[in-house]
Amino acid sequence: MSEFDDEDKKRIISDFESILPKLWERARSEAKMDTESEFLSESLEGKSIEELWEMAYGIESLEEQKLKREARKLKADYGEAELNILVCPLCNHDQVINSDVDWEITSGNKKIKSIKVRGAVCLNCSETFVASDGVKAVLKAIQESKRIKE
Ligand SMILES: [Zn+2]
Repeated sequence: MSEFDDEDKKRIISDFESILPKLWERARSEAKMDTESEFLSESLEGKSIEELWEMAYGIESLEEQKLKREARKLKADYGEAELNILVCPLCNHDQVINSDVDWEITSGNKKIKSIKVRGAVCLNCSETFVASDGVKAVLKAIQESKRIKE
């Protein structure tokens, strides 16, 4: 697929990073993984564009995606620095608005703390998503809370 340029790849990676925390959370609870490092250490940069595409969108075509992206730009909450999620990866709904989200950091069933990060929320299923910076903030908060516990 030579239609992909660097800009496309950058966007796909950034889209994917935005849904990574949720995938990680689900994978972790399903596989009962102990640490976050195993999942997060997998390099997205090393993957081919087709692999990233499949991971992020399944079999949806590039053309459809481009049309949706253009339509997304017309929505009121669109912003260059925002997540601008096209479709909720969990419920497939297309109303995922850019928003501040409260990210709760939990250990087992215990809530450690809640931090406010920039991300997006699905208006249909209420799932929240955070941007890469948000992920970093969450991981930092986890590390800090671990340090306090020790
Ligand atoms: Zn949803």
